[in-house]
Amino acid sequence: METKRWTIHSDEMNNHAIEEAAELLRNGQTVAIPTETVYGLGADATNEAAVSRIFQAKGRPEDNPLIAHVASKQQLLHLVDTLPPVAEKLIDAFTPGPLTFVLPENGTCARNVTAGLSTIGVRIPSHPVAQALLKACHTPIAAPSANISGKPSPTTADHVWNDLHGKIAGLVDAGPTGVGLESTVIDCTQEIPVILRPGGITREQLERECGTVMVDPALANTAEKPKAPGMKYTHYAPDVPMWLVDGDCANLQAVIDREQQQAKRVGVMAGDNTAAGLKADKIVSLGSDLPDIARNIYDTLRLFKNEDIDVILCETFPETSIGQAIMNRLQKAATAYISE
Ligand code: AMP
Ligand code: MG
Repeated sequence: METKRWTIHSDEMNNHAIEEAAELLRNGQTVAIPTETVYGLGADATNEAAVSRIFQAKGRPEDNPLIAHVASKQQLLHLVDTLPPVAEKLIDAFTPGPLTFVLPENGTCARNVTAGLSTIGVRIPSHPVAQALLKACHTPIAAPSANISGKPSPTTADHVWNDLHGKIAGLVDAGPTGVGLESTVIDCTQEIPVILRPGGITREQLERECGTVMVDPALANTAEKPKAPGMKYTHYAPDVPMWLVDGDCANLQAVIDREQQQAKRVGVMAGDNTAAGLKADKIVSLGSDLPDIARNIYDTLRLFKNEDIDVILCETFPETSIGQAIMNRLQKAATAYISE
């Protein structure tokens, strides 16, 4: 299949591209679209055949439900059975934005969107191109991250192209995404909301708005079964093995030296301060603060593929604010954890 690619510059909306992409979506085709978190692979959420094309293109396990994207709160209300007061409060505070609500569903979306669950994950993205597309489609769009299942999520259109060209009908390129990690998934079907996946909106932000928020115990304890089916799968894995290394700069350098002595070529990804104090075969600075680091992680995980590196070492980060989502993704991407 030929993949059509459009480019939209941030300073002007390309209405022609939006209309062509929306038409493909309305006709049951798959189109990769930019959002403020990562690029999503979209299809009409009310069309079962269209949704199954997403699973095929990504190689995604069919028991992993998709997030339905809508343009507004009003459109979200068409997909759900009830809207608990706590969900309404969080919708009013954080949408449009990187927060996905798990709510009782009402059968509007195709069965394969929810993977047979009685709940649905719904999100109102804030990215202007995603908003324009959703408005032009007049239908909810199911959209998981637009990568081959198990690989790092795409934060640029080139990442999508490398993984999926020839397998999808279209790709709307609007430059790099903003947050760089996926949305927070919050289950609002219980009295106290539960974070099923940490992401762009932090626990601290949520608690300021609605009081106590729980975190799915499976996120900290791998023996528990996660409530978001997708959280049980290997994810975000780079093509080169990545190890997380706890401790300070000296500790990281000791691991680099040890591996190099065994004739391994060692790549490192670390925050600016740590990176500046290290010597290795390739060092990538992720940025100086947690939001910067979040933005750069997926691109960096992909970057080492062509660098003739045998192992990537990555430093650990504090699990405060977006640091929770950063460490969740790094732990899933890593094949080993080295502590002091
Ligand atoms: P992705 O679209 O790849 O960013 O992944 C979406 C995440 O949301 C996965 O971890 C899914 O398992 C989770 N998810 C989607 N819908 C639901 C739902 N109804 N209940 C629980 N988790 C969900
Ligand atoms: Mg994904």
